[in-house]
Amino acid sequence: MNEFELIQNYFNWHLSDPTIELGIGDDAAVFDLDSGYQLVTTTDTLSEGVHFFKDTSPEDIAYKSLAVNLSDIAAMGATAKYFTLAITLPKLDETWLEHFSRSLKEASKKYNVSLIGGDTTRGALNITITMMGVVEKSKSIKRSGAKSGENIYVSGEIGDAALCLKKINEGQKPHKAEMIRLNKPIPRLELGIALKGIASSCVDISDGLEQDLFHIIKASKVGAMIDVQKLPLSHSMSKYIADNDDWSLAVCGGDDYELCFTASESLNSEIIKIAEICNIRVTKIGVINDSKKLKIEGYNGQGKSYQHF
Ligand SMILES: [Mg+2]
Repeated sequence: MNEFELIQNYFNWHLSDPTIELGIGDDAAVFDLDSGYQLVTTTDTLSEGVHFFKDTSPEDIAYKSLAVNLSDIAAMGATAKYFTLAITLPKLDETWLEHFSRSLKEASKKYNVSLIGGDTTRGALNITITMMGVVEKSKSIKRSGAKSGENIYVSGEIGDAALCLKKINEGQKPHKAEMIRLNKPIPRLELGIALKGIASSCVDISDGLEQDLFHIIKASKVGAMIDVQKLPLSHSMSKYIADNDDWSLAVCGGDDYELCFTASESLNSEIIKIAEICNIRVTKIGVINDSKKLKIEGYNGQGKSYQHF
């Protein structure tokens, strides 16, 4: 099987989006953009041994590769539309490819995004997805819009993916629900879109709340104060903290792909309504101030957010 057959066999599935004039099969893809919209694009790589374990299933790798990119689009308040896939494989393993491509196809259907191109090469297992979305002109939610006095919110529950990872690294067997939090993060696309025009800034929590919230305060030239007692935690995370007196996983653990955003107190009831409609927990965890620093009440700083290098 050569590269063209590989793409044909595993990645050239039928696309139903009428805005795509050309998908896979030409030198490049061509799609229409509605006037008044901007293209929002992001790219993320998942590497074996860095972002997932050697024994992670091809289904989970495919799902997560897509989800982490969708999460970035969600954080911008944009609607995800198209993606490309660059895949580096150590060998041509048809069973692996079949499982990977089936899962990718399923996830792309679920989130209504179309695979429009990509590349395949030989090497250590590596998946790079570039996701493209659209948003009404100048309506994207940036990191730089937070203002002093605004509330800081977080969606869902945080720290569970890090807790799962810690258990695996320590040779314990995580619960099934914890494995799902690590391998099957849910990109908060509906929430991101609903926050457009409401949230003044937003970031997705990929590297840990501490570090990702810091991106907001740096870009916005403000400070922030959050309180660990207000962090939204699952039962297993609460239990872990009670047993170990260790907040570092909740504060610095990454991989949850929840949204952290800011908004004025006057919009609080609107945010509660949005949370209900999106059927997601949204928790106020602190306030923006003008200190230019991030203060985490109740946390003594024993942990560290994820470092890429
Ligand atoms: Mg991000």
